[in-house]
Amino acid sequence: MIPSDRARLVIDLDALAHNLATLRSVTPGAEVAAVVKADAYGLGAGPVSRRLWAEGVRRFFVARVSEGEALRRELGDREAAIYVFDGLPPGVTARFDAAGLTPVIATLPQAHAALALAAARGRYEAALQIDTGMNRQGLTLAEARALAGAPEGLGALDVPLLVSHLGSATDPGEARNPEQLARFREARALFPEARTSLAASGGAFLGPAYHHEVVRGGVSLFGGGPEERPDPRLRAVATLTAPVLDVRSLRPGDRLSYGQTFTADRPLRVAVVGAGYADGVIRAAMGHGRAWVAGALRPLLAVNMDLLVVDVGDAPVSPGDPAEILGPNALLDDLAAAAGTVAHEVLVRLSQRAERVYLGEA
Ligand SMILES: *Cc1c(COP(=O)(O)O)cnc(C)c1O
Repeated sequence: MIPSDRARLVIDLDALAHNLATLRSVTPGAEVAAVVKADAYGLGAGPVSRRLWAEGVRRFFVARVSEGEALRRELGDREAAIYVFDGLPPGVTARFDAAGLTPVIATLPQAHAALALAAARGRYEAALQIDTGMNRQGLTLAEARALAGAPEGLGALDVPLLVSHLGSATDPGEARNPEQLARFREARALFPEARTSLAASGGAFLGPAYHHEVVRGGVSLFGGGPEERPDPRLRAVATLTAPVLDVRSLRPGDRLSYGQTFTADRPLRVAVVGAGYADGVIRAAMGHGRAWVAGALRPLLAVNMDLLVVDVGDAPVSPGDPAEILGPNALLDDLAAAAGTVAHEVLVRLSQRAERVYLGEA
């Protein structure tokens, strides 16, 4: 590849396809749909979704109406279903119509708005989210019962998909998982015509009871492990590398970078790398994370806006050598843990300053 002065973000769509195949193999019989909100977790909704389409994905989920509109443009004339988790907030109906988006009804007022639309038009299609225990989005079971049990029923409202979301799927031992599952089964009985979708990435790995008919694959498509730690069944989709700019020596007592970042307690060799938090490397990884330099993972001593400092010991490192901050060697979930966050956030923070290269575009 042409040498670059910038950090480089390689987005490997073959790895994405591999991860899709992994999700499919652990959820046999279910349809794996793709969650591509936040510009496909920062990796580019266009190239990501077109490759997923080429791999047979026909159903996509986004959070915002504007994300749905952008995705529709990116997908062109491909006949994909696009669902919007925000549901049907006031004033957006025309935008849903124009872009061919399906709301995932998230509140009771939205449900009433959808019923009114259905009555006025003779038919309206909306998915329904049920809150089974996260307490942030969706109809409660009581609200769902009232909706399903109204004398006029759902009228002309067509509910093709019933959605709920697990709050503790990354922790298979959590009691909230079976509790949410039980509530979801109650909800399913209220809307027997709808297909059902409970599992996101974490739920896909929780076992068949959690799969239902449509699995909403998000972070695991992009390489994040279902239990917030690296999973060998998944490949790295995003690889962030940057060149070593300089190799310097520190003597005991030398202070590094700003403030109290680091004081050498012995002689050290450090590599200064041309990437920083402006490229999306989360600053909180400083002192905890590791970068892959000269064939090993080495401590990330400083994360500044434009520069990283890595302790390289005696390794043969010279200016121009690559440092991998995220990728097949410096694993996504490890970096997330080092920064005190989740893989989702590490991905969405990757910035536009890094040069983007796509492999395997459809
Ligand atoms: C973000 C999101 C997902 C995808 O979750 P992952 O953990 O990334 O797989 C699925 N469903 C809902 C409702 C979401 O908000």
